[in-house]
Amino acid sequence: MINFNAGPAALPLEVLQQASEAVIDYNRSGLSILEIPHRGKLFDDILEESKVLVKELCGLGDDYDVLWLQGGGRLQFAMIPMNFLAENATAGYVDSGHWSTEAMEYAAYYGKVKTLSTSKEYNYTQLPNWPSLKGEDLSYVHFTSNNTIYGSQWPEIPKSEIPLISDMSSDIFSCRRDYTNCALFYAVAQKNLGAVGNTLVAIRKDMTERIVRSVPPMLSFKEQVAKKSVLNTAPVFPIYVSLLMLRWIIDKGIDAIAQDTNTKASLLYNEIDRNTLFTGIVKKEDRSKMNVVFLGKDKKMEQQFLEFCEENDVTGIAGHRSVGAFRVSLYNAISVANVQTLISLMQDFEKNYQ
Ligand code: PMP
Repeated sequence: MINFNAGPAALPLEVLQQASEAVIDYNRSGLSILEIPHRGKLFDDILEESKVLVKELCGLGDDYDVLWLQGGGRLQFAMIPMNFLAENATAGYVDSGHWSTEAMEYAAYYGKVKTLSTSKEYNYTQLPNWPSLKGEDLSYVHFTSNNTIYGSQWPEIPKSEIPLISDMSSDIFSCRRDYTNCALFYAVAQKNLGAVGNTLVAIRKDMTERIVRSVPPMLSFKEQVAKKSVLNTAPVFPIYVSLLMLRWIIDKGIDAIAQDTNTKASLLYNEIDRNTLFTGIVKKEDRSKMNVVFLGKDKKMEQQFLEFCEENDVTGIAGHRSVGAFRVSLYNAISVANVQTLISLMQDFEKNYQ
């Protein structure tokens, strides 16, 4: 089965094999990875290597800490304002779709929220303009690098004097990025980086000095940094799966991954633009290379195409319930050949459709 789901998403077969071997016997320790203690050499080594590899991939120096936290993307929506947004202060949010909006709603529990720009009036079928931050008095600026539901993506991470925070959940490690433009970035693991259960957070050290309120240790970036991600019982297995993914990414090489990302996206968008039955939704310049969102000719045809794909062992292409039609996610485990298979199905379906 080819799995184009948006997350939890496809993982490379090698990673699945290594993960399943570790469930029986982790590294010939005689213990399952599900049984090893979260404090002790076996897990310390996993954590340490995972952090080194994240830093290597992102070009981060000693001025950043890498954390694995729980609670998914939404806990970051809350933890960020909880730590960095005082009640009378303002945080700026760039609103490019569902996840940006939800992050803003969470921030409003803690302080003032300013929408710096939005593409809501276009139903998020394009990116908003990047805001000018001159003269703004903001605790931080938050943006979503890739809009998983609406299928748009920022081409780069802008520079900013105000601490920039990015939700990179759906495009981390898909291409080279200027990660050091961010004071903090985070990504849930279940798309490009492993299984569900852990979230990557990279935080510049000076940010821990900007914490504005006292929060329980589990929710404090300062405490999590001090306890090196093992404040509580860390989710050993998902972190190990992320380590396997990181090794896989490093082994393949980020430039080769970026090249594949470009090839996969351009093949699929070309077919959508050519095929008489499908239409892209997002403005061409803003199209995401990770989540390709498009419509069919009509509802009946859309349903028939979904069924045709399932019959041919292709799954996970139904669109998000708020946008509809189709969404094809092209994360790292999806190969160019997988995309070619989908394109052949689109072509066969077009030939036989009446
Ligand atoms: N941010 C982005 C960009 C997402 O795509 C998602 C959905 N996986 C989330 C945040 C929310 O993640 P979670 O379901 O782990 O809270």
